[in-house]
Amino acid sequence: MISVAEAIQIVRQQTRLLPTERVRLEHVLNRILAEDIIADSDLPPFDRAQMDGYAVRAEETGAAPVRLRIVGESAAGRGWHHELKEGEAVRIMTGAPVPAGADSVQQVELTHELKDGTVVELLETVELGKSIAKRGAEIQAGETVLQSGAIINAAMMAVLAAFGYAEVTVAQRPRAGVLATGTELVSVNEKPGQDQIRDSNNYSIAAYAQLTGALVERLPLARDETSVLTHQIAEAAEKCDVVVTSGGVSMGVYDVTKAALHELGAEIFFERVALRPGKPTVFARLPNGTLVFGLPGNPVSVAVTFNLFARTALLAMQGANEPALKYDSALLARSVKGNVDRESYLPAQLTTNDDGELIAFPLKWGGSSDFVAFALTTALLIVPAGTKTLEANTLVRVLRLPGSP
Ligand code: AMP
Ligand code: MG
Repeated sequence: MISVAEAIQIVRQQTRLLPTERVRLEHVLNRILAEDIIADSDLPPFDRAQMDGYAVRAEETGAAPVRLRIVGESAAGRGWHHELKEGEAVRIMTGAPVPAGADSVQQVELTHELKDGTVVELLETVELGKSIAKRGAEIQAGETVLQSGAIINAAMMAVLAAFGYAEVTVAQRPRAGVLATGTELVSVNEKPGQDQIRDSNNYSIAAYAQLTGALVERLPLARDETSVLTHQIAEAAEKCDVVVTSGGVSMGVYDVTKAALHELGAEIFFERVALRPGKPTVFARLPNGTLVFGLPGNPVSVAVTFNLFARTALLAMQGANEPALKYDSALLARSVKGNVDRESYLPAQLTTNDDGELIAFPLKWGGSSDFVAFALTTALLIVPAGTKTLEANTLVRVLRLPGSP
């Protein structure tokens, strides 16, 4: 049995990068950058007024109030491209270029323009450089502004647009097949008969996969028969980079997922992880290169093992900088029990207390089949293997669950 950390390491090692593609800017939200983004111009591109007011020479305002002759106007997109001389001022708007010769902008509230618009009175002294953002003060042409491997968020869209990236090189989206196994399963639009239940795993797996940017391929429900499942996995592998199965990986007579993988000549990297819930998780690669995650059938195990392992692979194949979930530290609100030889990932909710500390509230739950209680979970709290009890108020590691607030 390997540890969770070792299993994640193996997943990262065995995952190959997908090819990249050029995508139009309006379609790259949540995609993963496959190129560094370089500024093609200084920012601001010219000395820019930060206020509406008057561009002046600061030294001439030393004896304010002072009157200056208005010789022009500089507006955003329509600057005044002459040199400001002694005794002169230029009316200027926010975002407009500051004319040569001027070194400060006095805001309009501290001025008084005479009726005919030819003279302005400055009521107060202006500091040198006041209300001017100098060319290149924020970014200089040639600087890297976004790194390859970043997940493109809404704010980054503005950065891409500002530097002229009408098309962006991003990783291709992985194709993820979801394949639920279990003779007891019926689809969501059927009423379960005797001994049957509705398949719910395919929907949570698909949703978690979509959060990584994957294109989801929904495969037909599979019965617990090796020959049938073998055929279905083979068919799924033809059109998918990753196949995620649920169910059929325990020790029961009808747990046939591993038999099907052997039948297909898969290389199995691990099949038991020191993890609770989720011990019998399987990770394998088929001869054609498709990765297979064989998750246990219990819906809570599915959520835990998908996000620890399959999510990591789906992001790593897109070149993400940080494919694995990141740990936070939180104070434990109530004591919880651990397991002798497995690391536990228990459902919890996170809040902050009045001192700004992160607090993890363990949720009551009825085990790895309790998916209704799990719907309230926002984080997993980790109890190290071999820890009998984690006491209240100790610092614990937590993982925020993707897709939860
Ligand atoms: P298994 O890992 O196949 O032994 O399944 C463990 C438990 O999870 C059993 O109670 C199954 O009925 C249940 N289960 C398996 N697959 C699904 C699924 N797709 N949706 C909901 N529950 C499932
Ligand atoms: Mg089963």
